Amino acid sequence: MNCEHCGTMLAEGSTVCSVCGTAVTAEQIEAVRNPVKENVGLGILGALIGALIGGASIVGLNLIGYVASISGVLMGFATLKGYELLGKKLSKKGIVISVLLMIVVTFAANMVCIGIEVYNEFKVYGATLADSFAILPELFMNDGIDFGAFFTNLGMLYAFVALGAFFIIRDAFKKV
Ligand SMILES: [Zn+2]
Repeated sequence: MNCEHCGTMLAEGSTVCSVCGTAVTAEQIEAVRNPVKENVGLGILGALIGALIGGASIVGLNLIGYVASISGVLMGFATLKGYELLGKKLSKKGIVISVLLMIVVTFAANMVCIGIEVYNEFKVYGATLADSFAILPELFMNDGIDFGAFFTNLGMLYAFVALGAFFIIRDAFKKV
């Protein structure tokens, strides 16, 4: 375990921190005696719910014209918190699973946003939302997409996702 005040690694059985002198709390001693067991299955479910909430907010905020910043941060935060809440503990394994999930769902949400943009452009010609999504692969393969703008938007989105995830991951590593 680590000191709650300065983060120094404490020797087993110590009652005060050797560096700053902060007393080890009863909660910390209890945590060492009865470590919380991680439930990976429920953790994945929690991360998935969190990622879907993040993805829905990316699409929703995009629809009303907001840039992806807030929803990107929410995606990073909610996916990891979802894992921690249902899995009871955020291990390195949980972090890896959550990060993979947020990468995939963020990409998918961004594609939904592009599909909706395509629809808005082509609906005057009678295209449906389904048509607009169906035509996406073709647009990507035949340079019908502005790749500069695509990668800039996606990169920005991922940067905000990373920002939202950063603080949770840092806290998780402090606790271990
Ligand atoms: Zn200390």
